[in-house]
Amino acid sequence: MNQNKINVMTPKFASDFVCVGSKCEAHCCNSWDIPINKQSYKALKKFGDIEIRQLVTSNFKLTRQSESNYAEIKMSDNGDCAMLDETNLCKIHKKCGPKLLPYTCQDYPRKPHWFGNQAEMSMSLSCPEVVKNVLYDPDAMMITSIEQYEHQLNHGNIGGFKPTEGPSYLPLVRDFCFSVALNSILTFEQKLFIIGLYLKQSDAYLNNLERLSQLADSFHSMISDGTLTKHYETLPSTPSIKWSFFATQDFHLVTTQYQTQTVSFSKIKKFDAFIECQQMLMNSLHTSQDTDTQGKDNYFTVANPEREHFKYTEILTSSEKYLTEHFNQHPQILINFLLYSLYNDQLMVNLGKKPYDYFKFLTIDALMLKSYLSGIALQQKGLTKEWVVKLFHSYFRRRQHNLGLFNQINTNIKKAEEQSEYLIFSLLKD
Ligand code: SF4
Repeated sequence: MNQNKINVMTPKFASDFVCVGSKCEAHCCNSWDIPINKQSYKALKKFGDIEIRQLVTSNFKLTRQSESNYAEIKMSDNGDCAMLDETNLCKIHKKCGPKLLPYTCQDYPRKPHWFGNQAEMSMSLSCPEVVKNVLYDPDAMMITSIEQYEHQLNHGNIGGFKPTEGPSYLPLVRDFCFSVALNSILTFEQKLFIIGLYLKQSDAYLNNLERLSQLADSFHSMISDGTLTKHYETLPSTPSIKWSFFATQDFHLVTTQYQTQTVSFSKIKKFDAFIECQQMLMNSLHTSQDTDTQGKDNYFTVANPEREHFKYTEILTSSEKYLTEHFNQHPQILINFLLYSLYNDQLMVNLGKKPYDYFKFLTIDALMLKSYLSGIALQQKGLTKEWVVKLFHSYFRRRQHNLGLFNQINTNIKKAEEQSEYLIFSLLKD
């Protein structure tokens, strides 16, 4: 066992986290693949309580892939874990305590990543309690350093690059992005624009730290003298392109989920908060004749990239007042979202992406979230914390369980860049 002690940078949103268990609106384990390690499997198999032994016999499938993946829990048709009781409490947790839970369940929603010699503790936005902490606590991103044994941190399952393996440019480039995110004069869209432009220009110098640092200095000067905000103002507004990006992505976000699961819409609806949020926008679009997912049982509306960008643009405009009102009441929401993303995603370098690619994914996320928030705000005549949390956790849960989405986004971006390599920036413009 690794007895190394490491520094773990821990933001307040993570140290404040408390799982609300049966009161949770999300059932975090729904539709997961949950591997069981050999030790837990053997202990549960001969546990004193007969109900647990029976549950293991009828709901655990042996895989024997490795010590950590020795068996799997079979999910029911609607994606629920078979171990949940009628009040949605986990029976293993209730009767056997947390130590016998699969590591996945013990660790979620924690997501530590290496960053140099230290680890950065983060948490997944697919958990609603994490969303509340990240978006609604003005101090969410205050970080303290905690010393911890490496093997105790998510059972040693730490993501990102191991110490000394990460790209040397990452701290410098990310620090520049943080400094822009923290600038109190710039709007959210201007911040994204400046970060994107810097990441685009830094692409050619990722192996030259001195040049990267000079580039950051020159960007800071251009922020101070207003050059970059003037540049932002000259960006064209491209509503039809925006709609095309949104609609293509929406179609994919919705339909891939149903093509990979054989559950009826009535059952899906029970837990699918994302569809509830997405349908708010679809209702505002009045897309009754639009493309629907295949099969009568799974009938619901998705966006059609070929139509309706006028209506979509109108919705974005008319909901602006509701979004502004909510963001004025909670001025930390957008800045925390940006800081969290930069911190948590580490510019996606561990996924083999270049920093500029990361900017494009972040821009599409911002577009999708803003669009859905607009639909919700119009239907509800305002935004509430409950709806914002519902949208964010369900959107990120959908993203997390659908890695094919990244390929889809990539394809869309490449197609757009055939028209103009700067087209992605126009998505930031109203
Ligand atoms: S989603 Fe979060 S709050 Fe809900 S049960 Fe899972 S860990 Fe707990």
